[in-house]
Amino acid sequence: MNESKHWADKYAEQIVEKKPDKEKYLVKSGITPSGVVHAGNFREIITQNFVHKAIKKRGEKSTYLYFWDDYDRFRKVPKGVDKSWEKYIGLPVTETPDPWKCHESYAEHFKSEVNEELKRLNINELEFKSASEEYKKGTFTELIKKALENQDKIREILNRYREEPHGEEWIPIRVYCEECGKDTTESKYLGEYELEYKCDCGEKSVLNFKKNPGNAKLPWRVDWPMQWSKYDVDFESSGKEHQASGGSVDTAIPISKEIFNQEPPIQPMYEFISIKGQKEKMSSSKGNVIRIKELLEVYEPNVALYLYTTKINKAFEIAFDEEIVNIYNRFDRAEKSYFEDGDENEARRYELSMKEIPEQQPQRIPFGFCSTIAQVSKDKEKRKNILKRTGHLKNPSEKDIELALKRIELAGNWIEKYASEKYKYKIKEKIPKSVEDINEEILKIYEKAAEEIEKGKNGQEIQQFIYETAKEKEIPIGKTFKAGYQLILGKKQGPRLGPFLTTLEENFVVKRLKRKG
Ligand SMILES: [Zn+2]
Ligand SMILES: [Zn+2]
Repeated sequence: MNESKHWADKYAEQIVEKKPDKEKYLVKSGITPSGVVHAGNFREIITQNFVHKAIKKRGEKSTYLYFWDDYDRFRKVPKGVDKSWEKYIGLPVTETPDPWKCHESYAEHFKSEVNEELKRLNINELEFKSASEEYKKGTFTELIKKALENQDKIREILNRYREEPHGEEWIPIRVYCEECGKDTTESKYLGEYELEYKCDCGEKSVLNFKKNPGNAKLPWRVDWPMQWSKYDVDFESSGKEHQASGGSVDTAIPISKEIFNQEPPIQPMYEFISIKGQKEKMSSSKGNVIRIKELLEVYEPNVALYLYTTKINKAFEIAFDEEIVNIYNRFDRAEKSYFEDGDENEARRYELSMKEIPEQQPQRIPFGFCSTIAQVSKDKEKRKNILKRTGHLKNPSEKDIELALKRIELAGNWIEKYASEKYKYKIKEKIPKSVEDINEEILKIYEKAAEEIEKGKNGQEIQQFIYETAKEKEIPIGKTFKAGYQLILGKKQGPRLGPFLTTLEENFVVKRLKRKG
């Protein structure tokens, strides 16, 4: 296998080599819609999407099945939900009412959130299935029967890892009571699709899950390998909690092989994601989660996806501090690699993070500079003019301008919500007093620079002009630039000076550099 390949391509290669004659490959992901699906959970969805894309790039067909594990029970009342929801514990999440009253059920509420997030990320090739619908349609009837017929073997496999082994009475099924709807039941398999059960509510009955499908659900550790078998899954990565020793991967593999005669999918572990500056991993119960929606207030969707193309077994941080400037720069460089035959792996990372590759290489404005423009003006037209004046874009297309304006908007959000003081500035309305201490020769450089601005020189050229003139006159460069910031901001630092000066209103900046106001 080619070591320099991106991991998504390596997995695609393995998948195809494993079953070279398969007509269409299947990549699967799934989640119980019972809480906020945050940027950490999204690593699975996005990882699978990369592999799905990589299979297709090889010219093979692929399905990306997104399976809602929405026939799981409502386990506990989460923070922020009324205590009275306790009465629904034990019902499937699809039968539990929506505490926020905006959807048909508790599950539907979180499903629709995930759908919104997927749209925001432009991930739209998923084929959705719902466990609760599939169970009720009888899709899994024969496989449930197989599990029940092999209950001893399943119990033995699970008990390999259990501190407290399941006793003889334990069987691999949860029955949702036909009377009260809850899974507070104990049941016994009578053979031929029949389950005798009694419920805490007093109900006693016999359920025939062939005649009357639904109501009998496999527990997660058996359900999962059953899904692999039903859909002939080729790839499904999962997080640490499943991959830990004795976790559900360890039991799913022998159950898949020995009970369902199914070769398990390729199933690497992906690492956690954390937020930069936060030690613990993101977790809904800790409340330290970032939703995709929040991520996309400051990240372009493709830049966000680019983060997820990093090594699958490597934890990464989502930065909201100044590191974000570097992340954008890295993305822009990866784009350059793609269009200009640079680093292959970076080019591939770029390709994977794009929904569609633009025909022409876009012109990008560095995020740091966008944060400057965002602070100069909130007006779109003015921002457009600034873009033209500063010389960052050369004969830009409409698309380039649109991309730049969007990035400026995101950079503005970043300044407002997360940026440190270093990135924020305020223009002094009057000439700051500290200007009196600047040496006369330096001030003359700025008078000349003002004339250059009047001549229509762009930001890069002004930067160059200040630099060259200081050098010629043998004035220290650092001191010269500090003076420029003093004139405008009344402090010794700021954004790259030349481009910054040209972001400002021309009348103002010329007057100020000539110290006339
Ligand atoms: Zn809702
Ligand atoms: Zn009941």
